Amino acid sequence: MCKSYDDAGLSRRHLMLGAGAALAAGAMAPRPAFAVDESPQNAISPDEALERLMQGNARYAANEREQRDCQERRTGLVEAQFPIAAILSCSDSRVAPELAFDQGQGDLFVVRLAGNFVSDDGLASLEYAVKFLRVPLLMVLGHTNCGAVAAAVKVVKDRAELPGHLPELIDSIKPAVIAAHGRHPSDLVAAAIEENVKVNVKRMQDDAPILSEALAAKKIATVGGIYDLATGKVSLI
Ligand SMILES: [Zn+2]
Repeated sequence: MCKSYDDAGLSRRHLMLGAGAALAAGAMAPRPAFAVDESPQNAISPDEALERLMQGNARYAANEREQRDCQERRTGLVEAQFPIAAILSCSDSRVAPELAFDQGQGDLFVVRLAGNFVSDDGLASLEYAVKFLRVPLLMVLGHTNCGAVAAAVKVVKDRAELPGHLPELIDSIKPAVIAAHGRHPSDLVAAAIEENVKVNVKRMQDDAPILSEALAAKKIATVGGIYDLATGKVSLI
């Protein structure tokens, strides 16, 4: 049976007064919003992080994924997380970063939205991953046959119109489509998918001050990749 507040010698009034005092103290002496582990388990180089991802992708593509004890991992991750990479990927149900790179819980910090472009909110999440989780690698992961990029191509080439908030999403992908279109590729959708990854890697690199400073200090690296829906393989670009 659970103890009541009174059983524990604490009245509700005491608790409320205590909470008020704590809030007042907090207002006078602001504390950092997030705790930072000074010797995190993910303190590896960006190169090593990328190597782990690509080895995992090779296992996934060969259908030889590692066996993991999910309960043991859950228990070990209750108090903290130590992801080795932050990945901006498409929401597409066929592209799941944890599967594609054969990683377990706590290994990847993932931002997903259709078309894998850097939004302001997504950028803030990546900044959090770098600044407070000490993630050493950032990746933009596009994929073949991306419906969001194909839709943006239709809007640019055929002036197709989309309902709801979709035009806003397409607006974010359009610059990559227009840049790819200018090079007259034989496959515009494939070229735009690749350009979209490059544009968004650049956006990460230019983010000041958090990501650009971490890059300059060589604390992180950025990379782009394309996931092939047919083979499961990720090609770095
Ligand atoms: Zn997609």
